[in-house]
Amino acid sequence: HFINKFRKMERTYIMIKPDGVQRGLVGEIIKRFEQKGYKLVAMKLWSPPREFMEKHYADLSSKGFFAGLINYMTSGPVVSMVWEGANVVLEGRKMLGATKPTDSAMGTIRGDFCIEVGRNICHGSDSVESANAEIALWFPDGVSEWDSCESAWIYE
Ligand code: ADP
Ligand code: MG
Repeated sequence: HFINKFRKMERTYIMIKPDGVQRGLVGEIIKRFEQKGYKLVAMKLWSPPREFMEKHYADLSSKGFFAGLINYMTSGPVVSMVWEGANVVLEGRKMLGATKPTDSAMGTIRGDFCIEVGRNICHGSDSVESANAEIALWFPDGVSEWDSCESAWIYE
């Protein structure tokens, strides 16, 4: 496809955490990624087992907040998504805002909708390498390849 030849197309793993689902923010978060122009290529709502969530957050296993983080992340269903677009990994992180809501700019998802770091409603991959690893973990069967009719209006 012509777009892939000229753009730095990426995919990122975005997850709406249990508090985001419980608070009815699923539509709002999806809306922001859609409106920006990114393309949804995978999505599921489910409650992964504790060991699965520990694998996702393995890099943080030595942190004092790790057990609390896993309790929080397994307290209800999450929405797992893969979004595709030019520079979507870094731009997606910008849309989420800083990890700590007190540092998150207004206009970001975390800046607008939450207060505490331990209830920050969303996850986004922090690099292209971690995005690829997270997508492989959460969507082992792969994602949906489809052509968006909007692409020609979003990319030059
Ligand atoms: P991010 O989600 O922005 O990539 P990290 O990878 O550093 O941030 O941390 C993963 C998640 O762990 C955070 O989103 C947050 O839910 C939780 N977390 C991070 N730091 C703390 C902390 N000091 N206390 C409680 N939870 C934390
Ligand atoms: Mg992280």
